[in-house]
Amino acid sequence: MEKAKKEKLLSLPTPCYVIDEAALISNLETLNRVERETGCHVLLAQKAFSAYHVYPLIARYISGTTASGIFEARLAHEEMGNRQIHVFSPAYRDEEFDELTGICDHIVFNSFSQWKHFREKALSCKNVSFGLRINPEYSEIETKIYDPCFTGSRLGITLENFEENELDGISGLHFHTMCEQGADTLERTLRAVEEKFGKYLYKMKWINFGGGHHITRKDYDVDLLISCINRIKQKYGLEVYIEPGEAVAMNAGYLVCSVLDRTKNGIEIAVVDTSAACHMPDVLEMPYRPYIIGSGMPDELKYTYRLGAPTCLAGDVIGDYSFDEPLDIGDRLIFTDMAIYSMVKNNTFNGMPLPSIYLLEKDGNTRLLRKFGYEDFKSRL
Ligand SMILES: *Cc1c(COP(=O)(O)O)cnc(C)c1O
Repeated sequence: MEKAKKEKLLSLPTPCYVIDEAALISNLETLNRVERETGCHVLLAQKAFSAYHVYPLIARYISGTTASGIFEARLAHEEMGNRQIHVFSPAYRDEEFDELTGICDHIVFNSFSQWKHFREKALSCKNVSFGLRINPEYSEIETKIYDPCFTGSRLGITLENFEENELDGISGLHFHTMCEQGADTLERTLRAVEEKFGKYLYKMKWINFGGGHHITRKDYDVDLLISCINRIKQKYGLEVYIEPGEAVAMNAGYLVCSVLDRTKNGIEIAVVDTSAACHMPDVLEMPYRPYIIGSGMPDELKYTYRLGAPTCLAGDVIGDYSFDEPLDIGDRLIFTDMAIYSMVKNNTFNGMPLPSIYLLEKDGNTRLLRKFGYEDFKSRL
């Protein structure tokens, strides 16, 4: 990281998330290229990143958003301007459905029973296109919590349960079976989708490839994605949608924290003013080890510390990291790739304060977007 940028980040009050506008734009340019070279529509999956302050920026590059229910749909409606809004939920409530038909372009159902429950209402909505989520029973995800194709999964309709006589009013099929994967996985997944559901695709207007495409990762094969989309478009005469979450804001954010205390118990310990459980829950859930700028693996650099949170949860440990210099109280650390699945998942467990949200603008200035306090803790209880 350039020195000036790093200095800027280190000068902010902690804990704070920082959205990196230049990095976000670079991701959006890649996604925009996919739209331009295929005519497909890229939708931000808000589940991963809902920092609506930058929705107007995102809207300049991609077609719109996808939502998991009425709250995310409303957020897009209020903050993204006149862009497409798609929604998928495993089950809609009656009252939610009426609101959704007023603001969404596409509504995807998870089962034939949901489709039949809402069909009559749906058919009276002329401006909404309806689809079904299928389960092609093919996925390459090894972590069960992220695999929608595990045995007994509630997500999507399997071929065995597909009611081909109930398709009147259905214009599209949706699948979502990937997680942080490359275009090669998509290519193989499409073969499985076509093998099972290909004959229905000829009758549809659109297909949605879901999320989990790591399009903005350095080694991602964007050309292969483009050729997959173009092949499906041409073969079946379909509009294609993809709805990445991670890929939109990957490596476009930081979490800056400060060292509060240092102790020892066999190893050196540093307590920081951020928490894995509260501010970066995927560290414990996924689990994974976030990178800290200037750090190494344990014992790789001269001074190794276990970084833990100021909560009472014994396991609220971010990881073991080594540094060139010893850590002192007040030192700042910068975690990378903290825009996605962080702000949307954080919580105030144990009375932990929520990190502020800053935007690092592309000209290098920082701007405070949101600051949180005691009321944000109290108002949810
Ligand atoms: C989670 C999800 C996405 C986004 O997934 P990423 O891994 O963040 O790209 C897209 N569509 C659906 C239906 C999802 O559940």
